[in-house]
Amino acid sequence: MGIPGVGKTTLLARIVKILEEKQKDVCTISYGTLMLEVARKNGLRDRDELRKLPISKQQELQRKAAEEIAAHTQDIVIIDTHAFINSEEGYYSGLPEHVLRIINPTNFVSVSANPEEIYSRRMKDDSRVRDKITLPNIKKELDVQSGMVSAYAVITGSPVKYILNREGKADDAADKIIGAIGL
Ligand code: ATP
Ligand code: MG
Repeated sequence: MGIPGVGKTTLLARIVKILEEKQKDVCTISYGTLMLEVARKNGLRDRDELRKLPISKQQELQRKAAEEIAAHTQDIVIIDTHAFINSEEGYYSGLPEHVLRIINPTNFVSVSANPEEIYSRRMKDDSRVRDKITLPNIKKELDVQSGMVSAYAVITGSPVKYILNREGKADDAADKIIGAIGL
């Protein structure tokens, strides 16, 4: 997990490639994409509208997505997700307790990066409709992420590995994640 633009999806693509080369039975799930699939059945059009829905609606979509994740049978199931969502009402947990109880994660990986690098990665990516991007906001989000991740560790009793995704060093970060979890 990590804030937008930190490099989660980039790292996951590399991790999956390595694990498939090792003949591992692995799958990845983007929590946001899965929630969007459920939401689309209810008339929502745009991924970036998701976080603007009322919290009660987001909770229902989160729960349905969690149930689909829990039904996966692969040896390794990796979830690409945000530790929190920037909703109209404030920061909202990406994995509230009711969702953690359904998914029951064995390991957390909290991806971070230099705030200036996150800033420029977000500015480069014009495929997404992002909230106003400022450096102080990114620093605040990194703080909120570490608080959320600590809560997940306490609720589940599962370890958290912090990974710094350095500019131009995505391969190193991917290797560290695989090494840390022992995959
Ligand atoms: P989101 O939460 O919005 O899905 P994300 O965390 O999945 O974001 P990515 O889409 O993987 O982020 O990466 C954002 C941008 O940063 C992409 O343009 C990607 O190529 C670039 N990027 C990721 N990791 C690195 C790195 N180590 N060095 C340089 N650029 C990187
Ligand atoms: Mg992504």
